[in-house]
Amino acid sequence: MEPVVFHVDMDAFYAAVEQHDHPELRGKPLIIGGLGPRSVVSTASYEARKFGLHSAMPTAQALRLCPSVIVLKPNMQRYNQISKIVMEICKSFSSQVQQISIDEAFLDMTGTQRLYGLPREAGMLLKQKVTQETGLTISVGIASSRFIAKMASDYNKPDGLCRVSAGREQAFIDAVGLKKLWGVGKVTQAQLAKHHILSASQLRAYTLCSLQSLFGHSMGHFLYHACRGIDPGIFTGEAKSHSISTETTFVEDVTTSNVLEQNLLQMSHEVMFRSLEEKQIGRTIGIKLRLPDFTTCTCQITPQANIYSAEQIYSYAKQLLMQKWHEGIPVRLLGLGLYQLYEGDKPMQEELFDDPFQKKRELEKVILAMQKKGQQVFKATNLENKTKD
Ligand SMILES: [Mg+2]
Repeated sequence: MEPVVFHVDMDAFYAAVEQHDHPELRGKPLIIGGLGPRSVVSTASYEARKFGLHSAMPTAQALRLCPSVIVLKPNMQRYNQISKIVMEICKSFSSQVQQISIDEAFLDMTGTQRLYGLPREAGMLLKQKVTQETGLTISVGIASSRFIAKMASDYNKPDGLCRVSAGREQAFIDAVGLKKLWGVGKVTQAQLAKHHILSASQLRAYTLCSLQSLFGHSMGHFLYHACRGIDPGIFTGEAKSHSISTETTFVEDVTTSNVLEQNLLQMSHEVMFRSLEEKQIGRTIGIKLRLPDFTTCTCQITPQANIYSAEQIYSYAKQLLMQKWHEGIPVRLLGLGLYQLYEGDKPMQEELFDDPFQKKRELEKVILAMQKKGQQVFKATNLENKTKD
């Protein structure tokens, strides 16, 4: 039986949730991220992307490119609520769902035709269901492998549905082009260009051996298979019951600890919330790093103490990162997971992204808004000065 894989991906997820919950934000450039001097963008709305804003970009740079952009702090609890609904819908379509991050999953839809019709019809049905229940849109990629399904979901985003039928994989890769080939970043493109390789068909002229000697073992292996539309085995499945993990592939390779740490912080909250939802506690924390040449390293730690908070996860994850990585080394992908899960009591919930400066700013914003309305409001500290006048 021909394998049928769906890749489901929420469109501009965090930004879409905020725009759904707050209609006044719809149609406006919006980014979700921190406001501090070292903060980075988590998600940019499609309106913000028109200005060149994208995830992992420093917030300060985003503000320079688009001064009118609205910046919101992430509300991971809310995003996880919606994520949970979407994942439940996915599970109603397939018994084999592999969630790869808060807003992405692979569904094995092999042999479900009797239940849901042809793959394209099933994809439409899934999209409708998600929009009905959450008010948000998803993009679905359908193919015979995870790799092609992942690229197909991206093909006509947002609200996309793209099916690559079996036997058309290589033609699809040619249509996507080398520039947008998943896993080929700017650095790799430049390397390929040095060898006058500008298209997937030119890449196919090289043997596996020669690609490996030119670009290294892992990257050579990846390129050889990818340009033929053969799954290079990037998204290997792990039984869901054994881990709760998430990962991010960066639009551009990341070289600063700043960006990596903020991603880890957010991922720590994500996996913590997911573990809360599933009433699971992890014993082991692990991170995964993939470099531009596709070498991948993972490391784990099993602390003595129980893991009860996102803060704890973050602090261990940061330790692991510092063991494996040095400032300046470009990173393509960053992953974080909780392993050795056991059923447990609900860990304590904590205040998310508790940043005293953020609170101050929020307070200042409220005061400013009230003053604009002509109300006499002063902060206590300012009030003291006032009364002295
Ligand atoms: Mg997404």
